[in-house]
Amino acid sequence: MDKVVSLCKRRGFVFQSSEIYGGLASIWDYGPLGIALKNNIANYWWREMTQLHDNIVGVDAAILMHPQVWKASGHVDGFVDPLVDCKQCKARFKAQDLIKQWRAKKKLAAISDGEIPDGGEGDIEQLMKVRWPEAACPSCGTTGNLTAPRQFNLMLKTFLGPVEESAAVVYLRPETAQGIYVNYQNVVNTARVKLPFGIAQIGKAFRNEITPGNFIFRTREFEQMEMQFFVPPADATEWLVKWCDKRFKYYKKLGIRPDKLRLHQHTPQELAHYAADAYDIEYEFPFGWQELEGIHNRTDFDLKRHTEFSGKDLSYMNEETKERFVPYIIETSSGLNRTLLTCLVDGYYEDTQDGEARTVLRLAPEIAPFKAGVFSLVKKDGLAELADQLANDLRKVGAVFVDHSGSIGRRYRRMDEIGTPWGITVDYQTKEDQTVTLRDRDTLEQLRIKMNELPGWMAAKLVVG
Ligand code: ATP
Repeated sequence: MDKVVSLCKRRGFVFQSSEIYGGLASIWDYGPLGIALKNNIANYWWREMTQLHDNIVGVDAAILMHPQVWKASGHVDGFVDPLVDCKQCKARFKAQDLIKQWRAKKKLAAISDGEIPDGGEGDIEQLMKVRWPEAACPSCGTTGNLTAPRQFNLMLKTFLGPVEESAAVVYLRPETAQGIYVNYQNVVNTARVKLPFGIAQIGKAFRNEITPGNFIFRTREFEQMEMQFFVPPADATEWLVKWCDKRFKYYKKLGIRPDKLRLHQHTPQELAHYAADAYDIEYEFPFGWQELEGIHNRTDFDLKRHTEFSGKDLSYMNEETKERFVPYIIETSSGLNRTLLTCLVDGYYEDTQDGEARTVLRLAPEIAPFKAGVFSLVKKDGLAELADQLANDLRKVGAVFVDHSGSIGRRYRRMDEIGTPWGITVDYQTKEDQTVTLRDRDTLEQLRIKMNELPGWMAAKLVVG
């Protein structure tokens, strides 16, 4: 993990936010390569969900929404984490995490009074009852200093307008999903969609996470790629299974190693208040198995709540049967930054080539920041001009990086380290037969190919499906 973090900084994928001022904890900026990779992943997801599905359309809702949205969604009352403070060292912990830690160490005897909940999202009431007068603080080790749990809302607040008063409070959205639900009727009325259909959205979300960390894995500002699929209630279970399958295959297509992926079904304790059934797609990070994407059967909870709070009828009429009902929703909710971290961690490896250490990012060509490095063997004798000309042709297909100086081996290695799948070298033979050397990052195979065939060859490699 440390190596990935250092590569990100060294090559300009990710920088700490406001670094010249000492940084802002757990907030990150994306550099030239990072934004290219992030945009490519977002585009890959967008194409997968909308272009390859004729029954999924997109929206882009605003980050700020009517405050009632968050009452209807349950976030004002329910989006809370019970927190415990140590009076001695002032460290702050999620009650859930303390229980998990103590369970793992079998130190449950240290916790007295109250029942010991399983630590799931549905257990907030139980968590609030837990007391631990004899327990030791995991940070400073003193006993008897942990407070009773207190509720802490994870939504970030701000004010609209010039006056900072309670009537002007708005929230930075903690998830993108609600922007889809409140536009559901607009989409039905304008996009000629019929059930089952989906609405996709990519956008920022904000959560005042208590324990952010692991680089860009958990941050307070992040991006989600969400798709809400509206189905007749009787078909919800079938669609949940279908979407789990499709989404699992998607990560494999993205090049993630299958043995590092698994599907985890939520236990009743883990289920969120709105879900009837849910699965997480998990990836084995260096810090353990963690959620990459949540796939939930949200039932008719959201549309019913918005009907109740807005007074607008959000039911659906089946034109053929004239039956009216509130659709169920299957949600696929994936983190863009977390997917990016997964691609970096999964693709990172080191080997030795010709006696020299090599760092490689095995990124799928579709998402790699540069598709090819284009090099001239030497800068003179017209080779640099030929390489520039080829690069201009290739740019119409995908981003390329041109480099005319240094040893070819070093130029290849610089490209390997940032995940560029192909290296192309223009040499003296190019002047005679218009062929170039094409070198593959992963197999290291080299072949000669006609310059004018390269754009077509590369375009064919980058087709998604
Ligand atoms: P976690 O259990 O990791 O907190 P969650 O169950 O709260 O996640 P969801 O609300 O289901 O997550 O959000 C869907 C996806 O959004 C997650 O699978 C993850 O990829 C991403 N995500 C959620 N919270 C964060 C965060 N703080 N930082 C980065 N990505 C996040």
